[in-house]
Amino acid sequence: MQTSVEFLKGIGSFKAELLRKELHISTYGDLLHYFPYRYIDGTQVQNIQSLQPDQEWVQLKGIIMNFNEHGSGFKKRLTATLYDQTGQLELVWFQGISYVQKNIQPNTAYSIFGKLTFFNGFPTITHPEIEAIKPGQNNAAPTMQPAYSVTEKLRSKGLNNRSFAKVTQALLEKIRPGDIYETLPPDILQQYNLCGRHEALTQIHFPQNAMAQQRASHRLKWEELLIAQLKITRANIRNHQQPGYVFGSVGDLFNTFYNDYLPFELTGAQKRVIKEIRTDTLQGRQMNRLVQGDVGSGKTMVALLSMLIAADNGYQSCMMAPTEILAQQHFQGISDLLKDMPVSIAILTGSVKTKERRRILEGLKEGSIHIVVGTHALVEDTVVFKNIGLAVIDEQHRFGVSQRAKLWQKNTLPPHVLVMTATPIPRTLAMTLYGDLDVSVIDELPPGRKPIHTTHRFDIYRFKIMEFIKYEIEKGRQIYIVYPLIDESDKLEYESLIANYEQVKTYFPDPKYNVAMVHGRQPADEKDRNMQRFVSGEAHILVSTTVIEVGVNVPNASVMLIESAERFGLSQLHQLRGRVGRGSEKSYCILLTGQEISKESRQRMSIMTQTNDGFLIAEEDLKMRGPGDIYGTRQSGALDFKIADIIQDATLVEETKKAAELILSEDPGLAHPNHRMLYQALHHNNQSNTLQWNKIS
Ligand code: ADP
Ligand code: MG
Repeated sequence: MQTSVEFLKGIGSFKAELLRKELHISTYGDLLHYFPYRYIDGTQVQNIQSLQPDQEWVQLKGIIMNFNEHGSGFKKRLTATLYDQTGQLELVWFQGISYVQKNIQPNTAYSIFGKLTFFNGFPTITHPEIEAIKPGQNNAAPTMQPAYSVTEKLRSKGLNNRSFAKVTQALLEKIRPGDIYETLPPDILQQYNLCGRHEALTQIHFPQNAMAQQRASHRLKWEELLIAQLKITRANIRNHQQPGYVFGSVGDLFNTFYNDYLPFELTGAQKRVIKEIRTDTLQGRQMNRLVQGDVGSGKTMVALLSMLIAADNGYQSCMMAPTEILAQQHFQGISDLLKDMPVSIAILTGSVKTKERRRILEGLKEGSIHIVVGTHALVEDTVVFKNIGLAVIDEQHRFGVSQRAKLWQKNTLPPHVLVMTATPIPRTLAMTLYGDLDVSVIDELPPGRKPIHTTHRFDIYRFKIMEFIKYEIEKGRQIYIVYPLIDESDKLEYESLIANYEQVKTYFPDPKYNVAMVHGRQPADEKDRNMQRFVSGEAHILVSTTVIEVGVNVPNASVMLIESAERFGLSQLHQLRGRVGRGSEKSYCILLTGQEISKESRQRMSIMTQTNDGFLIAEEDLKMRGPGDIYGTRQSGALDFKIADIIQDATLVEETKKAAELILSEDPGLAHPNHRMLYQALHHNNQSNTLQWNKIS
């Protein structure tokens, strides 16, 4: 299983390197666990004429003609027509355009496979799988041929779906039953009627029939979820046993601030979460609480009040943000709020100069600084606290497990941990998967917040939109314009970003308008400087990539214009939208797309225009991006299982949770010989990103 795929028939060192880069496949074991997302029934070839809108995946045969290029930059697209004896269908490419143009021959019969959509009644396939049909070859493919999700790059280097299948075939021929260990204990296999691991891993690639495929996939999902559940359950048990500091009283600092300086009434949800934190920190065990709240729900205030309770009890606290900009903002905000209170606050980031840094480190060590805000610079070994009792982590998904582990060691007992995130984990999911782990939800926005008016516009109306933006700027507002840049290192995408920036500047010329730009390729200090121009109000417009996705707070910004919005996933669109609507002014989010977008993209736009509710959106997002979704809207995240699907496999989630609890109650250390392979699977998977729960729990 550890052998490099390089040694497999049809691979070699060049393709091996590509596989590693593109799909993180290095070894036989990795390849064996790269499951098909779909099976093609090779015997079924449809007629174009008889295609129906409810057919998802189709296989066709025909010739390809009429190549046409449209647009440029991000919006560049290639179309062609597929003809069979019964009709015609449009083929569309957004990527790999030159490869397609070079390799498709006229008057040659091709076999086409892909996902069908209809535009104005006209059938279309985007990014079809294409293979030339050799003369004399009649479709001899077996009934269930695996389809693997491969990237454009792999495809262009000759590793398309079918050659990929040949490679897995070659691998399976090498594997003997003894090479694959059983992970699940015999009683579980029997009780839940699961097939063995060897059978599952071979049948998942080349199933004899649909039944065998289902059995294999059921077994693999079960195993994946069981391992996840074992990890979660074990983490819960550990958390609940970890002793922690007692914050016995709410004292002068909290009360004075609450009565005299709090600039608004807390929402019911904020009050409830504070109470939950109060209760946790009274128990004498360490708090590990995840606070989920939609963008703008007021998580910072919850954090601040918790830090005041810590201070009332003689403990220091720290607040970590994922970026320097965010840390600055938190520091500013908290300093303003506490300016008349006897609480000393400092900021510690990578850019703090040596002398100042020494002063801060000294203050933290002797206890004269009560609250420190900063970036991951806070976890460095040089940072020593006199008595830290609470660590707040903002927008957790940017922090790794090891950094959090370092935090734990900053006092005799680990400090209480409060993780704040705006990435909503759907209710159903949080309930089944976290069970009794501490999750707080701020499910209420501060009063008077106007919902962000969201519209979907086609880019032929760009001029009108720019006029609207001018009007908003005249009223004193600021504007975000966001471009998709999926791959920050892609030269072409980068160039079109610059081109777009120039275009914005022709609508909004110097010196009347001030336009700033930030993107991931700028050095950190340049990025911060440009960002600061926008935060301070000097720049009217911020042109950026998604680097601004998380946490930035500029209440004066009233318009979020998202370019090529069809290229973003739902959750990402919602995060971006959350950058506006933070002040008292009416705010707008404009989703700009071309006219011809897929059915799914249209559906995403329509969900965005219909609701502002982040939880609803997260649920829709999950439903929409099943394992079949390979065209770029899929985002990696906590829900990234290889084969299981949290929504569709909800009953398995339940089943494995019960099984995990039972196993651990009988054998907490997984020491029994029957559990040895489970134990290993649990530890072997540690670095695998299939399980990012660790970061939360
Ligand atoms: P997020 O949850 O996204 O981190 P913030 O903590 O940045 O949200 O809060 C967003 C804005 O709402 C801030 O300007 C904050 O001062 C304000 N705010 C927070 N709580 C309330 C409240 N209860 N009433 C009114 N405004 C509030
Ligand atoms: Mg925040």
